[in-house]
Amino acid sequence: MEIACLDLEGVLVPEIWVALADEVGIAALKRTTRDEPDYDVLMRYRLDILRDNSLTLNGIRRVIDELEPLDGATEFLGWLKERFQVIILSDTFYVFAQSLMKKLGFPTLMCHELEVDDNDFLVGYKLRQANPKRQAVVALKSIYYKTIAAGDSYNDMEMLKEADFGILFRAPQQVIEQYPQFPAVESYEELKIQFVRASNRDLLI
Ligand SMILES: [Mg+2]
Repeated sequence: MEIACLDLEGVLVPEIWVALADEVGIAALKRTTRDEPDYDVLMRYRLDILRDNSLTLNGIRRVIDELEPLDGATEFLGWLKERFQVIILSDTFYVFAQSLMKKLGFPTLMCHELEVDDNDFLVGYKLRQANPKRQAVVALKSIYYKTIAAGDSYNDMEMLKEADFGILFRAPQQVIEQYPQFPAVESYEELKIQFVRASNRDLLI
């Protein structure tokens, strides 16, 4: 049995924090896991900025609701779901992802929870578990799934290493150079080819 594990931001949808930074005009919010590999450091930094700028969850969700999946992402996901069981493993939050999940046809999503206070300010976050992407792959392997994973950034590398087959999608050059063991592709057509290549089955593109 085979299962596909996909990162969300940068693979199917835009970087949510970067889009938010553009919309509210706070460049400091543009730091992502591509810039800061330590997720907890990055999240504390983001929450501090939101609080300092009086940005509430509702205000943030209004911005996110305007986002669309990347060009070709919905078609790619449909293609993948016809051929594999698919799970999205993301470091985003359920309340952030909801409208984008609707646009993608509600694929299975494993991500994190945000903590909101009575005034609608974000005051903390709850990780699903430590090293969540890797642990999801470990769990799937424990029930004998062959795992094929694709991601674009540092927070995907443990998932890609643990998977039976890892693929880099639109990764920055420094990630491609640091992880030469993974094939690196730029388009959904190339990504389809990698999934077909990784599969034990005779799949057609
Ligand atoms: Mg990503």
